[in-house]
Amino acid sequence: MIKDFECVQESYARDLLREKGLKSTTQRLAVIHVLHTSGKSLSVGEIHDGVKKLLGVAGLATIYRTLDIFEDLGIVKRLHFPDGGHGYAFSRGRHFHHMVCVDCRGVFDFPECPVEWLDYASAEKQGFRVKDHFIQLFGQCDKCAEVA
Ligand SMILES: [Zn+2]
Ligand SMILES: [Zn+2]
Ligand SMILES: [Zn+2]
Repeated sequence: MIKDFECVQESYARDLLREKGLKSTTQRLAVIHVLHTSGKSLSVGEIHDGVKKLLGVAGLATIYRTLDIFEDLGIVKRLHFPDGGHGYAFSRGRHFHHMVCVDCRGVFDFPECPVEWLDYASAEKQGFRVKDHFIQLFGQCDKCAEVA
């Protein structure tokens, strides 16, 4: 049973929580630990299992609330699964785009924002004010491609 999470990812999460006046509870840090050590996108059930394995106990409602908080802080990203479900992955920052392997659900950072160069003029011509965008790439990671 691990009580202290000392990885850089946890101290980053701790800083973000402190900035917002939120407590760095063991369960919150455990969620980050489970996500960043897995290296892939996990369903809420898998995150719940992982935290339970670390701490012995974990409330599902707390896991949901924690994921919401971390998604707001940009340290956790909600991603789509190829089968239509969704899950969560550790993210280095709010504005990152991710590539998700359809075989192992591994998550990789896309090196840049593919729409940064695009202005939203055509949307704004229709009176639509763009606030944000979501782009996620599906594919096969190097490891899974080798096996196939
Ligand atoms: Zn960790
Ligand atoms: Zn893969
Ligand atoms: Zn972008």
